[in-house]
Amino acid sequence: MTPAAAKESPILRFEADCCANCFEPLPNDEKHKPALFCSELCNSVAKDIRYWRKALRDGRLQNDPDVRLALHTRIAHLLAGGYNAVARTIPADVRTLVISRDKVCVQCGGPGEEIDHIEGDSSDPGNLQLLCADCHHAKTARHFVPATEEQSAFVDGLEQERVMPDEPAQLCDDDEFWQQVERILRPERINRIRHAAAGYAMDSSAEIIAQIRDGKGSRPGIDDSLDDDHSARGLDDDSGYGEDSYFARAMARDD
Ligand SMILES: [Zn+2]
Ligand SMILES: [Zn+2]
Repeated sequence: MTPAAAKESPILRFEADCCANCFEPLPNDEKHKPALFCSELCNSVAKDIRYWRKALRDGRLQNDPDVRLALHTRIAHLLAGGYNAVARTIPADVRTLVISRDKVCVQCGGPGEEIDHIEGDSSDPGNLQLLCADCHHAKTARHFVPATEEQSAFVDGLEQERVMPDEPAQLCDDDEFWQQVERILRPERINRIRHAAAGYAMDSSAEIIAQIRDGKGSRPGIDDSLDDDHSARGLDDDSGYGEDSYFARAMARDD
């Protein structure tokens, strides 16, 4: 496959040095975290597209109400400007404190299963409460507000352009391939920043992707110890994203 042909193939839509979601150029500055997205919002959009695509194709979206609620929750967070996972992370000692303080679901007295942020992102114990899974679901659902026309159009656009097509429209939408390539692309990006600063010619995006597809993932000189985009994962506790949440359980069903 020639680089030009690779670039035209919809599954390969990716531009080196640009946001993998919106294609805005990324700052060529080593001090900037070598992320593949321009913002946490773009990162969230791509994650949600992958989840949506997968859940639609394996039938969970049609058959599992928990998965539908999880998707609605994710979209609601997107429309609210992206989920602030780091701010909502609950430190282990605070978790323990809330669990021993509340003991049971503070709303119905049932088993305390999930820690809820009462309002906003603060993980101060005063803003946290223990709920059972059902009360937590119900609270999340109550907080949904109807989308504006503009927001509906945004979500419809994502669905039509990036969820419905059988072939992913962008590299970051490809659930299987993206897991593989992001580990390679992040250190690749540092290399590119350094090489660009030194005035070297860089491989085109199509060439990079073709090499990864050919299994030449470990390119010489690439430091693949860097993995900082994963640092915030798995630590947040609330609104369907935490390890003990309905969202995690829904995800765990087939992962
Ligand atoms: Zn972006
Ligand atoms: Zn309850």
